[in-house]
Amino acid sequence: MSRFWSSVVQTLTPYMPGEQPQMQRLVKLNTNESPYGPSPRVLAAIENQNTADLRLYPDPEGAALKQAIADLHGLDPKQVFLGNGSDEVLAHVFAGLLKQSKPVHFPDITYSFYPVYCKLFGIDYQTVPLGNQFEINAADYKVPNGGIIFPNPNAPTGRSIPRSEIESLIHGNKDSVVVIDEAYVDYGTESCIPLLRGNHCPENLLVVHTLSKSRALAGLRVGYTVGHPDLINGLERVKNSFNSYPLGRLAQAGAIAAIEDQAHLEETSAKVIRTRTKLVEQLSALGFDTLPSTANFIFTRHPQHSGAKLDQALRDRGIIVRHFKLPRIEEFLRITIGTDEQSGELVSALKKF
Ligand SMILES: *Cc1c(COP(=O)(O)O)cnc(C)c1O
Repeated sequence: MSRFWSSVVQTLTPYMPGEQPQMQRLVKLNTNESPYGPSPRVLAAIENQNTADLRLYPDPEGAALKQAIADLHGLDPKQVFLGNGSDEVLAHVFAGLLKQSKPVHFPDITYSFYPVYCKLFGIDYQTVPLGNQFEINAADYKVPNGGIIFPNPNAPTGRSIPRSEIESLIHGNKDSVVVIDEAYVDYGTESCIPLLRGNHCPENLLVVHTLSKSRALAGLRVGYTVGHPDLINGLERVKNSFNSYPLGRLAQAGAIAAIEDQAHLEETSAKVIRTRTKLVEQLSALGFDTLPSTANFIFTRHPQHSGAKLDQALRDRGIIVRHFKLPRIEEFLRITIGTDEQSGELVSALKKF
């Protein structure tokens, strides 16, 4: 604490990212990174950059990357907004679109960055409880609100809802923006992006993606959102009032190569899904209850062992997972899907315990 902190800074409770331990030989299953590297084309694209050009500012619009993203999704580049990781994109969404006279609505159990942004930007929010099976019921959001945001699949539960439910939500909620955070969409969830194509693009839907998870580029910091050009335009106004050059030259070049290699994404996501299926079966044989996941992580609990104890037991054996000391989910562990080998080490550590 310093007497120079503003009153806002004094009241913040910042987001706590999963730890990035420096120890080698750890089985790191705590921050949902990809166990496989990015497309080899990413490294090639970065190496092909002329380092002498680094003295020059990058393209502030990221036009080539926007075009690549638009081509991938069958959209217009005017429907694409870029940021330094999707966390930055989300910050601009909260500041520019979700600060309204009514509170923004999001699940009681969800990505814990959402309430942090609300505090920072002075946004009123209302949490909507997940159902008994930790599911999102889109109908629960059909109440007066200043905006709606949730991940699909949700984090940290891994549960998803069908696109049709979200479609009906946006049509029944014409007066505020609905933001679907699709950070983990590539592991078996229906994306809402098809709703944005063509002349019937809704005015009030934004879909947020990141290159940090399925494209294995958490270290490059690239995220984006797609939606109606008028929403995107509002976000550009916020961005250009904050940092006009959020993506460096190397990030733009690497991201384009990653977006263009859809085959690599599909191959590595399929491997993660296979490992997930196997792990869920192995955990079930050990007595764990696991929520149905369409993410690159699972949310699981054991009726006889507390979440805190299991977390510590794994840590003692060099395996790091995520445990949240929060109401309703204290008994759960969130475990990132690693390689088959890492998964095997996890299962054998649990068996020994
Ligand atoms: C990981 C994650 C993000 C943020 O990813 P970036 O690395 O900032 O792009 C956003 N939303 C959810 C739900 C996430 O889990």
